[in-house]
Amino acid sequence: MNMKSMNEEYDVVIAGGGPSGLSAALVLGRARKRVLLCDSGPRRNAAAERIHGFVTRDGTPPSEFRHIGREQLRHYPNVSVRDVRVEDVRGDKGAFEVSLEDGVVRARRVIVGVGMVDELPPIPGYRELWGKAIFQCPYCHGWEVQDGAFALIASGPPMVEFSLFLRGWTKDLVVFTDARFEVADDLRRRVLGAGITIEERAIAKLIPDASGQHLEAIELADGARIARRVVFARPAQRQPALVTRLDLALDENGFVRLSEHRETSRPGIYAAGDSTTMMQGALVAASSGAHAAYMLNHELTMELAASGLL
Ligand SMILES: Cc1cc2nc3c(=O)[nH]c(=O)nc-3n(C[C@H](O)[C@H](O)[C@H](O)COP(=O)(O)OP(=O)(O)OC[C@H]3O[C@@H](n4cnc5c(N)ncnc54)[C@H](O)[C@@H]3O)c2cc1C
Repeated sequence: MNMKSMNEEYDVVIAGGGPSGLSAALVLGRARKRVLLCDSGPRRNAAAERIHGFVTRDGTPPSEFRHIGREQLRHYPNVSVRDVRVEDVRGDKGAFEVSLEDGVVRARRVIVGVGMVDELPPIPGYRELWGKAIFQCPYCHGWEVQDGAFALIASGPPMVEFSLFLRGWTKDLVVFTDARFEVADDLRRRVLGAGITIEERAIAKLIPDASGQHLEAIELADGARIARRVVFARPAQRQPALVTRLDLALDENGFVRLSEHRETSRPGIYAAGDSTTMMQGALVAASSGAHAAYMLNHELTMELAASGLL
């Protein structure tokens, strides 16, 4: 497609307006860089009612978090925020051409903070309950459902091991293998010894209660129903399209590989947030956005100062 050039020039274009992108934009704005923050598409926690465990923002709805983040950026006239997708980045460090949905802008550096995509399994009821009764992380939602009837849908033995960790939030825990793998004797002994039940039959569906907001039971392929209120699970994840498009190198776990300066395998393109780590939480993502911004800004400022461009 032939893109129109918008004749706009920025120091940094940031792709992604979640906690990592917002945080990077704030740091760079305060460092007097010309920044364009581009955000398009759903955030990872869109299905969740509240963000927990973020100091000063504990219990804040995700939309309010984003609103506050954007409001605070308005204080910096050198930062622009647009609801637009970044499609591609061409060129080299110092002179990138960033293709947006509606045109091309120039930038000296780029930060990719596009999150990860959760690939929810096709179990009936799963998508509807995701973020309401199915959670990916006990630090985020364990407190609210503590001492409840938990299920852990395990995708493999490491997740069965994870059930021991979940005992920190409840005594009433059933691990479901969904008939997908065997549990080794030693692991089985340790899990059963912690008072956890292992259910190895296949799952047919998740049954919500009348409100549709809570889980009532997990129905197995043979029709048996096991009453549960909460599910913990780690669905498979994939990188968003932009990471693939930019051909950024990934590590052995599928996350964007970073140098110690938070630069990706493409010089001048930095990354932050969920797409770079297994340690996924809003505060961690915000911190990693700030980290990338510090590193980028130091390098860029030194370069501009040495070339007489400041
Ligand atoms: C159900 C659920 C509940 C959660 N609850 C909590 C919680 O209570 N507490 C907590 O700390 N963490 C929670 N998390 C984790 C938290 O949401 C993530 O760690 C955090 O949002 C990651 O921030 P990020 O900036 O990396 O990515 P995201 O928040 O996912 O933001 C990335 C943004 O970039 C956009 N984007 C993607 N591609 C492009 C592109 N090409 N151009 C422009 N924009 C693009 C995306 O659509 C998205 O808006 C939860 C996660 C889930 C799934």
